[in-house]
Amino acid sequence: MTISITPSPMKRIAMVSVHGCPMVTPGMRFAGGMNVYLRDIAPAIAAAGVAVDVYTRSHHAGGPEIFEIGPNARVIHLRAGNPELVKSEVIPYLPEFRERMLEFVERQGLEYDLVHSHYWLSGSVAQSIAAQWGLPVVVSFHTLAAIKERESSESEPEQRSAAEAQMAHGADLVFAFTDDERRELNELFGIEDERIHVAPGGVDLSLFQPMSKLEARKRLGLSPNEKIVLFVGRPEPFKGPDVLIRALPHMRDTANTRLVLVGGSEGEHSFDWLRLLAAELGVAERVSWHVAVPQEQLIDFYAATDITAMPSFHESFGLVALESMASGRPVVASAVGALATQIVDGQTGRLVAAHDPVDFAYCMDDILGSPRALQSAGEKAVIHARAFTWTRAAEQALQGYLRAAHGFVERAQLSH
Ligand code: UDP
Repeated sequence: MTISITPSPMKRIAMVSVHGCPMVTPGMRFAGGMNVYLRDIAPAIAAAGVAVDVYTRSHHAGGPEIFEIGPNARVIHLRAGNPELVKSEVIPYLPEFRERMLEFVERQGLEYDLVHSHYWLSGSVAQSIAAQWGLPVVVSFHTLAAIKERESSESEPEQRSAAEAQMAHGADLVFAFTDDERRELNELFGIEDERIHVAPGGVDLSLFQPMSKLEARKRLGLSPNEKIVLFVGRPEPFKGPDVLIRALPHMRDTANTRLVLVGGSEGEHSFDWLRLLAAELGVAERVSWHVAVPQEQLIDFYAATDITAMPSFHESFGLVALESMASGRPVVASAVGALATQIVDGQTGRLVAAHDPVDFAYCMDDILGSPRALQSAGEKAVIHARAFTWTRAAEQALQGYLRAAHGFVERAQLSH
């Protein structure tokens, strides 16, 4: 017997992001690109006509149970475990989170058309709720255990890899930010291209745009004459900020070059290991440290810099690269993950094959040494970044949701 199920046009979707709240200031230990992605894509999807609720755990930064991040886009904080818990401690509370989410939806009389899961921690919750409601589920991993472990010495929770494999095979569609991530998903989990949907992130072009370098330096108390290299993000080994400190002594004009690092927090002592290294290498005077700031303040740092450097060991999307390019500042980055395609080598910046400080110093000097090269790369960077609006990102996500819904219906028909 064939039953006929016609997918209705979508009206409302539920995003599950157990540990990544869009309201937390990014750039600290457990908050970064995923938080920004959720904060910016949810209102963009809502603006395209599909309401979005992002379910996340109540956390240390507080905030009301329901928070509007735009018309028809809400963040819903659910109490599951002590708000102070860090990411790895949340695992035992996932069943409670699931119960709180079901209760909330019931209480509010909400109906959804699809569930979108973010990061491995949300997978089991999203998948079981979608199954209970009879809805399609899509997954965005943001990062993958196998890649983190391959590229760093850190080990991930033991259940993470198995949970990711389970989700990769169980979801109706897996979202990848880039073709590179699609290839990785193919290789790691053996899932076919038809079950992967490439949908990039974006950049807020009304916020990140070229501004006066001199005025920004004045506002930040930075010298108008020095060459400035900017690092933005969580100052952890995976992002390679130490590569830049090691590169400083190898630069052509070390005494006139300043590395500005923005990210982390004093409470987390994020910079301690880097301060030690800078002192050991005799370049402490050449480095400025700033704890993470909201993006409204970050724009001054991009404007003040000559180039942004990203010696990351992997990036699945790399919002910082896009933000810098949108601000008219070229990016010198390791040729890994999304960075290898985000940056057009020799045009919008430079790609460095590995993480060798001497190579980084050489490539950074190459751009810094020529005002014309710097200006031309900055202009090309702005044009390149312009294609990545959140509106476009939302359209591509919506195409993925429709693909997932069609696949879901087809499978339901086949199984009857
Ligand atoms: N960020 C910020 N303030 C800071 C440092 C970083 O708002 O002080 C934001 C930055 O603008 C970017 C995000 O944090 O949007 C980092 O994203 P990215 O994709 O580069 O790295 P991830 O955190 O995902 O590894």
